[in-house]
Amino acid sequence: MHIPSLIKDETLYGVLARGMHINGYAHHLLGIEKLSGQRVTSLANLKAEVLLNSDYVIGLGCEQNLGVSVLEQHLGGEQHLNHDLVSYASGQLVNGAWKTCQLCLKEDTERFGTGTWRLLHQLPTTLICPLHDEQLSRHELKRKMLHHRFYLPMQTNSTPVSINNAIRGHLKNLAQLGHEAIADKSKPYPSSVIKQVCKRVMLDRGFLKGNALSKRVHEDFSEFFGSARLSDVMDINLGRLLNGVLGVDEVPVIQRMLLIYWWFGSWELFKLSCLWQSIFADSTETLSQSDANHDLRQYYRDHCLGYISSKPGASRQELLRIDYKAFRWLKNNDSAWLNKHLPMTRYSQLCLF
Ligand SMILES: [Zn+2]
Repeated sequence: MHIPSLIKDETLYGVLARGMHINGYAHHLLGIEKLSGQRVTSLANLKAEVLLNSDYVIGLGCEQNLGVSVLEQHLGGEQHLNHDLVSYASGQLVNGAWKTCQLCLKEDTERFGTGTWRLLHQLPTTLICPLHDEQLSRHELKRKMLHHRFYLPMQTNSTPVSINNAIRGHLKNLAQLGHEAIADKSKPYPSSVIKQVCKRVMLDRGFLKGNALSKRVHEDFSEFFGSARLSDVMDINLGRLLNGVLGVDEVPVIQRMLLIYWWFGSWELFKLSCLWQSIFADSTETLSQSDANHDLRQYYRDHCLGYISSKPGASRQELLRIDYKAFRWLKNNDSAWLNKHLPMTRYSQLCLF
């Protein structure tokens, strides 16, 4: 059996579907039994790890590209998530559909003979192709039709996703963020660190009232997205998503991409906040407001210096975003020190004079 080589960002499902197609295999279950060496009764319910351990997939040499597991870990998911072949392709089969970009399909068909499913289009927060700035199409794929055979995009019906133009700028940024996140091959931080990072943002922004969500959450969210209604185009429930971070609800962690965008704006800033949290873990919790001012001063100065040394080209704007509390405290109580160590940029100085 000829094994196609992996296209960048192709899902595991995609490369297997192409394999069957190229080989003209009619019995896909049988093909997968040959590859995995195991009896297979359903392609949709097949555990991804069965395939990941097969010589075939190991031979492809880039398991990280094949599914969303690594991205899920970057977003605070536990390491051993139980994926089947269908969910491994995208984290979830959102509303019974996967997505494609018409231009990517055209390019892939020209280069490889057929279009395929690409991971970067499957994130629930990605509705525009980050490579072509093209609105994605949604393909009808009910789980029950996936049990016995593989489908390529061209073998299914598709319709363009609905996009509200007022929100297009945000959708474009979200797609770009997803693209960067998928490309991140660094070692994920522990899920406890990610949870602390998220919880700190929620505390700093006044999103929590005791252990429950405050009204401020929805106000802040609407302020950020303006008049555009994200819920019209994306099936994500904000309250549940945040409760998922707090451990109250169970929500696919892949949806946290929306929070990363809203809170940090870029993947780089989010990662920096994680680095930050991993260095100063726990110290935030033990320090209370009643501590002497001197200790607070040293504490926030250490935060600021740690940030500066971790980041060439450190800026005040960035510190404000990743460590709002430290920045506000230093600006209000220790501004001479702050100006000396993290001066205003040349640009803002030029504006002043
Ligand atoms: Zn594209």
